[in-house]
Amino acid sequence: MHRFPFACLIAALLLIPIGSRPAAAAMPFQPVISESEHGWALPNTVVIIDVGHGGIDGGASYGDMLEKDINLAVAQKLYAILRAQGIAAVMNRTSDYALSEDNRWQLSRSRHRKDLSQRRQLTEEIDSELLVSLHVNSAKNKSKYGPLVLHQTSGESALLAFCIQDALNRQQNTGFLPREGKPFYLLRRVQQPSVIVEMGFISSERDRGMLTDPAKQQEIAEAVALGIRQYKWIAR
Ligand SMILES: [Zn+2]
Repeated sequence: MHRFPFACLIAALLLIPIGSRPAAAAMPFQPVISESEHGWALPNTVVIIDVGHGGIDGGASYGDMLEKDINLAVAQKLYAILRAQGIAAVMNRTSDYALSEDNRWQLSRSRHRKDLSQRRQLTEEIDSELLVSLHVNSAKNKSKYGPLVLHQTSGESALLAFCIQDALNRQQNTGFLPREGKPFYLLRRVQQPSVIVEMGFISSERDRGMLTDPAKQQEIAEAVALGIRQYKWIAR
């Protein structure tokens, strides 16, 4: 949290052996290829994009407007932006289905529990640096609006949340602070630095137009990607 970026940069440069991996030094966000225990070369994923809800779980709604569809639309845009910038990313759902349907290893009868466990399980199976979970907020109070990023207790997660919140505040002309999201299962159980990004309120007239407009969804995705890049620049 309190590390000085230039000190980081100098330290990082000193750690790169001269003559080795010039491509990685020139392109710091290039995915690193590592050997698996089976001897296969697997690309290291940097970001897991957790696409909130899906299938019978629509998430928050307003009329026939469903959170799960907004999450997926922004996730696809974020995925494309990150990949174009050389940041290896994966999405844990690429169309409209519930992750609980993929979970055949847990005996729990709770679909919600199975869904969350499946999301966590994927973070253990995919070698990744961080997880960004995309969601849309809703409140009884229709005047509530704006982005909110929730983070874990760790400094890395808080830093990631501050970077994404700052980028979303600039995009949406707001000035909200990120918050620790202690009760959230994903934030409690996922090991890598993780944040939940509530992109705006579906209950707010101000936010609804933005959340459902493809051009504005692109702006949201670009802001989240910018936050991730800034985090990587400071944290590396
Ligand atoms: Zn949600």
